[in-house]
Amino acid sequence: MNQFFDAIVIGAGQAGPPLAGRLTAAGMKVALIERKLFGGTCVNTGCMPTKTLVASAYAAHLARRSTEYGIAIDSSVKVDMNRVKARADNVSANARTNIETWLRGMDGLTVIEGHARFKGPDVVQVGESLLKAPRIFINVGGRASVPDMPGVGTVDYLTNTSILKLDSTPRHLVVVGGSYIGLEFAQMYRRFGAEVTVVEMAPRLIAREDEDVSEAVREILTNEGITVRTSATCIGFTPHADGVAASVDCTSGAPVVVGSHVLLAVGRRPNTDDLDLDKAGIAVNARGYIEVDDMLTTNVPGIWALGDCNGRGAFTHTAYNDYEIVAANLLDGASRRVSERVPGYALYIDPPLGRAGMTETEALKSSRKVLVSKRPMSRVGRAIERGETKGFIKIVADADTKQILGAAVLGVTGDEVIHGILNMMNVGAAYPTLQWAVPIHPTVSELIPTVLGELKPLSA
Ligand SMILES: Cc1cc2nc3c(=O)[nH]c(=O)nc-3n(C[C@H](O)[C@H](O)[C@H](O)COP(=O)(O)OP(=O)(O)OC[C@H]3O[C@@H](n4cnc5c(N)ncnc54)[C@H](O)[C@@H]3O)c2cc1C
Repeated sequence: MNQFFDAIVIGAGQAGPPLAGRLTAAGMKVALIERKLFGGTCVNTGCMPTKTLVASAYAAHLARRSTEYGIAIDSSVKVDMNRVKARADNVSANARTNIETWLRGMDGLTVIEGHARFKGPDVVQVGESLLKAPRIFINVGGRASVPDMPGVGTVDYLTNTSILKLDSTPRHLVVVGGSYIGLEFAQMYRRFGAEVTVVEMAPRLIAREDEDVSEAVREILTNEGITVRTSATCIGFTPHADGVAASVDCTSGAPVVVGSHVLLAVGRRPNTDDLDLDKAGIAVNARGYIEVDDMLTTNVPGIWALGDCNGRGAFTHTAYNDYEIVAANLLDGASRRVSERVPGYALYIDPPLGRAGMTETEALKSSRKVLVSKRPMSRVGRAIERGETKGFIKIVADADTKQILGAAVLGVTGDEVIHGILNMMNVGAAYPTLQWAVPIHPTVSELIPTVLGELKPLSA
C-alpha cells in the first residue's frame, strides 16, 4: 500500500518528535515511524533512568554520611533495589507515555509503529506499507557498541539497556569502559552496595578530559572503594563459577578480575546498519555515521540526519539542537549551522563534572595565548557549607580576545554552574564583562567572577 506525505520522520527520539510538531504546525502532512519505545534512548535507557538511579545512589550515600551532618539514623542504610528500579522505571514510563500521547494527538501526524527501511531516495518501507515523501528526516539514534573482544560471546554481559532490568545489587560489577556512561554506573552501583571494578584501556579515565580532571575523578571514585584498572590493553572474558573472569593485562595489579556481572560501556554505534541507506544512496562514514553538512543535510537532496546517528553530537541536547537547526533553516528561512554550537556536557557522577568548550590541553594546542585559573571546591563557601568539597573550577581563556575558551566545573552542582560559562560563550562576551556581575551568595556560581579575576598566563 502506498501512502504519500509531505515529510517522513524516522525515529521518535529527541529530534524527531519536536520536528514533527513544527512540520505539522506548518501545515505539512507528516508520518513518524518508531520501531520500539517512544522517547528513544534518553527517555528509556539513557539519561532519564540513569539520572533517577544516580539520585537514589546519592540518597544512599548521604544517608551513610548522615552523622557528619549531625543526623543519627538508628539502623544501617539498606538499598531496596526493587524500589530503586521501580522509581526509575516509573520516571521513564511517564515520559514515554507523555511523548506517545502528544504524538498521537498531533494534528496532521500519522504515527506508524515498525521498522523503517529505505526503498529509494523518497520511499520508506514499514512492514507491507510504502511511504513516499519529498522530505525525509532520519533520527534513528544509536546503541551500545559490543566490540569483538576475546571471549565476549562466551559470557553474559550487560549493556546500558540490560543493566536497567537488574532488580538486585550485583555482588561485584566489572565495568569495562572508564568513560561517561561507565563511570555513572560504576559509582551508582558502588553506592547501591556492589563491589565495583572499572577497567579502562587508556592510561586514564575519561581520557579526552584534562589530566587533572581525570585524576580528580579517579580519586573521587577510588575514595568510595571503587577499584580502577587503567592501561588494560588486552581485555578478554571467560566464564567463571562466580560469574565472569575479565582479563585486564594491566601494567600492575592482578591480571584477571572476577565479577558476578560485567557491564560493557565501551562506546556507541549508530542504528544505521539496518536502514538500507544504500537504496537511497545515503553516504555513511567508516563508523556507520550518516555524513551530513553543517546544516545536517545528507548527500541526498531532501534527506536530513539528526541526533546521534550523524556523529555530530552524542547528547540529548545536541539531538534537540539538531532539530532546532533543521526546523529554523527549513521553516523560518534561517541559516543556522552545527558549527555555531558551543560544546557543553556533563558527567553525572557525584559531584558532577560540567564541561564547556575546549579543555586546557586543546586550548594550548590551538596556538593561542592561553590564560588559566583554577580554584578547589574546598575554597568555595557553598561547597564547604554542604560538606561536599571535592573537585575544582577551572576556566581557560584567550589572553588576546578575552574570550572564554572552555571550563570544567567538577564539584557540587557543577552541571548547573557550567551554564553561567556556557551562556557567556554563547553570547560571545569577553570575560571581564562578568567580573562586575553581582552573583547570589552563597552559591558555587558566585565564585565564577573571582576565578575569572585570577586568570594567569600559561605557557605551552
Ligand atoms: C546510559 C546513557 C546515559 C545517557 N545520559 C545522558 C545524559 O545525561 N545527558 C545527555 O544529554 N545525553 C545522555 N545520553 C545520550 C542520549 O541518550 C542520546 O544522545 C540521545 O538519546 C540521542 O537522541 P537521538 O534522538 O539521536 O536518538 P535516540 O534517542 O536513540 O532515538 C532514536 C529512535 O529511533 C528509533 N529507531 C531506530 N532505528 C529505527 C528504524 N529503522 N525504524 C524506526 N525507528 C527506529 C529507536 O527505536 C529510537 O526510539 C545517555 C546515553 C546513555 C546510553
